[in-house]
Amino acid sequence: MDMTIKVLDAPTRAAQIISTTGDGVRAAVAGIVEGHKDDLVAVFYATLIVDQEASRFLSHDLVNERLSLSLKRWLNDLYGNGTPDIEAFIERQKMIGDVHARMRIPIHLVMQAANILKVGIFRRLKDTTLPRADLWAAVVYTNSLMDLAIEIMSQAFVNGTASRVETDEAYRLFSLGQDISLDKETQRAALLEWSQSVLFAICAAEREVLLSPISASDFGLWLHHRASVLFQGSAGLARIEGSMRLIDGELLPQLREARAADPARLTTLLERFQAIISEMKFLLSDMFQAAAAMENGRDPLTKTLNRRFLPSILGREIAIANESDKPFSLLMIDVDHFKQINDSWGHPAGDAVLSQVAEVILDACRLSDFVFRYGGEEFLVALVETDGKAAYRAAERIRKAVEGRTFLAPDNSPLPVTASIGIATFDGHPDFNRLIQAADQALYRAKKLGRNRSASAEAPVLDKAG
Ligand code: GH3
Ligand code: MG
Ligand code: MG
Repeated sequence: MDMTIKVLDAPTRAAQIISTTGDGVRAAVAGIVEGHKDDLVAVFYATLIVDQEASRFLSHDLVNERLSLSLKRWLNDLYGNGTPDIEAFIERQKMIGDVHARMRIPIHLVMQAANILKVGIFRRLKDTTLPRADLWAAVVYTNSLMDLAIEIMSQAFVNGTASRVETDEAYRLFSLGQDISLDKETQRAALLEWSQSVLFAICAAEREVLLSPISASDFGLWLHHRASVLFQGSAGLARIEGSMRLIDGELLPQLREARAADPARLTTLLERFQAIISEMKFLLSDMFQAAAAMENGRDPLTKTLNRRFLPSILGREIAIANESDKPFSLLMIDVDHFKQINDSWGHPAGDAVLSQVAEVILDACRLSDFVFRYGGEEFLVALVETDGKAAYRAAERIRKAVEGRTFLAPDNSPLPVTASIGIATFDGHPDFNRLIQAADQALYRAKKLGRNRSASAEAPVLDKAG
């Protein structure tokens, strides 16, 4: 038997685990899981509910019922009979990892939970009459497959959490009230100043010149220490950093050399220098433009919150609602037949309508509420400490305000604008995506019922969707 350990990708390993296990062994595990899934899940609960940290995620009735269903489905997914669709299996594990990240369920709890299930299956395997070799194969199979699933989940969880942390951090920085437009002017000037100091030095009469590196200039320092936070991960930033290394490492020494000994080459080098500086200025403007759109986390057209802050804000609101036992609601607002406004009057007229609709919404909400631009002509409002009835009243207030507002087309003719609104109230489930989906479905109903109306989400149904 080949005992070398090779690191293979998840699909290959999943295929290997399945193909190296005999059909009879897999069927035995499938039988045990199918026959005992109720008690496996029951033991899972009984063990975890007494754990203080875990009980935080399990104590809600709704979650309990849904989680039981999801758990049973997950076990069936792992060990069910038949030929598995490996790609779909892996996608599902990733999705679960994403959900865990949104609910902020720590990985160690998930591993603990998996262990409870594993031991439960092993215990039942012990009671079978499987021959020793098959018993061993069944344990290896059960163990490997569950570990692989947890590993895929954990990876998705880490990615999800890392991006949330970045978003939280970016939000914090923007909230601190950085003045992006001031920064932009200052840094353009700093870059210009440095490049001119190089040109002056080259033109100067002295024999020997000192060309100071860009990395040590005001601009270089700012780029390295501040821009890297502000423009995290931007392609433009990486390119500017590359240019700076090129300038300091190659171009400045070449310029100094050419100035002393090769005037003909100096012209070519200076042209190259200017071209690189121009490109840097262009990339810088570009990055600032993108950042300006995020200034204070607000969408520039509508002044509503950028949707990338949804996870931070809704995650926090859900935590508050859970702790204080106070309700909170979402409104999904979509402008009716907005495409027609664009088609008849052009995109700029559409933009003007959008910014006015946003104004109406912001006016109709309290300062404590959060208004996001969710999509093109869709707004998502988080109404804090608001139950379903109050949310419906708020929705109607907004809807009537939009209907009552006079919008004018470019030719000054009146332009009728209405909106439809879907309402959903927090039901205790820690995944905010579910709440958004519920509001979205309610919006869809409002549209189907004829638009220019508000519709509440129907009471959540415990279904197979978990
Ligand atoms: P419904 O009543 O079903 O919502 O119809 P609708 O026409 O509003 O819906 P649909 O989603 O088909 O159209 C939305 C349009 O909004 C399509 C898109 O071109 C336009 N849009 C999205 N973002 C913007 C924007 O920022 N400015 C402008 N002017 N139009 C936008
Ligand atoms: Mg729409
Ligand atoms: Mg629309």
